[in-house]
Amino acid sequence: MQSLIEYARTFPAALSDQREEYARLARGQRPQALFISCSDSRVIPAHFTGARPGDLFELRTTGNIVPRYRAQAACGVAGSIEFAVQALQVPDIVVCGHSHCGAVQGLMREQNVATMPLVRRWLGWAGHRTTADQPWQTRGLGEDPVAVTQRHVLTQLDHVRSYPFIARRLASGRLRLHAWYYTVETGEVLAGTPGSRGFRPL
Ligand code: ZN
Repeated sequence: MQSLIEYARTFPAALSDQREEYARLARGQRPQALFISCSDSRVIPAHFTGARPGDLFELRTTGNIVPRYRAQAACGVAGSIEFAVQALQVPDIVVCGHSHCGAVQGLMREQNVATMPLVRRWLGWAGHRTTADQPWQTRGLGEDPVAVTQRHVLTQLDHVRSYPFIARRLASGRLRLHAWYYTVETGEVLAGTPGSRGFRPL
């Protein structure tokens, strides 16, 4: 932690030649995209997209899970999505999963999260449950973690589509959706292609 504190202390001085850019940021934001990714410390969207401050409106959740739309949801995820789309009018939304995702491993093997009831309940929003009393479907997701994660990303993107204000913007062509998969060990990003369940390099 100490190295993080030291860096933050010297950060303002390091910006001395970028004063204009940061002053512009203070006047407002117009991000290029809403970027939904996992909380995992190894997944840093700005690292592999080259995003500068102001470029990405980030939403990070355990397992990049986006619960389906519920009108009464008092949920930070839903609130962030609504703000990004309605107030900031982002033209693109990315849902980005990643390799070695602990949440996906928890979805595949319930015993991994047996001692974490809050995580278990959150994973229930991933959309893989088959019945109301079953937290999620463990069989049927498959054994290949890459394929499972990519299907999981597409499911979360389906959940994004369930938000009425997003459906309206998609219908009018004012919004585009993207399914991405980030590989931790190589830095490669794959993208889901429309009309296909496969992922290919960007
Ligand atoms: Zn993850």
